[in-house]
Amino acid sequence: MSKPRPKYKWTNEGSPRRSQLLHRLIVSKKLRRKLRKDEFVHHINGDTYDNDIENLKVVSPTEHLEIHCPQKYPEFKTCAACGKNFRPAVTKRKRAVTCGGKRCIEQILVDRHSHRKLTKRNADIIREAYKGGVKTSALASAFTLSRATIYRAINCQIKGAN
Ligand SMILES: [Zn+2]
Ligand SMILES: [Zn+2]
Repeated sequence: MSKPRPKYKWTNEGSPRRSQLLHRLIVSKKLRRKLRKDEFVHHINGDTYDNDIENLKVVSPTEHLEIHCPQKYPEFKTCAACGKNFRPAVTKRKRAVTCGGKRCIEQILVDRHSHRKLTKRNADIIREAYKGGVKTSALASAFTLSRATIYRAINCQIKGAN
């Protein structure tokens, strides 16, 4: 039985008793300093064995998540108010609901306060998603509903189950 190939190349260079990740060593040599723990090294072409310096990029943990989970941190979103595609700021990719236009923000706030009616279909989807582990905050932004409305949808189910 052969061991599964590790995800990255390791090296003992510089510290014979402790192996380290080769791509981190390569970047640290290029920068002539040690890499901090919050500096991740991303393999641009996706090949984790391609440690050509051109294929390596230092990124923050958040940037790294965005690269590897584009569904959760999409580069483009559709505004929940005007329906236009927009590009959220890097740090707001997950949370952004509107394009940021004044009218759109107002529109969403009005919707939240008016307790937009929850359709039965959406309530079912919300309950399923909640059971599947999706957080209420994520559901609230996905359906542009208030957190209270999301809780109402989830609680209906509990009553129905009794
Ligand atoms: Zn990566
Ligand atoms: Zn908009």
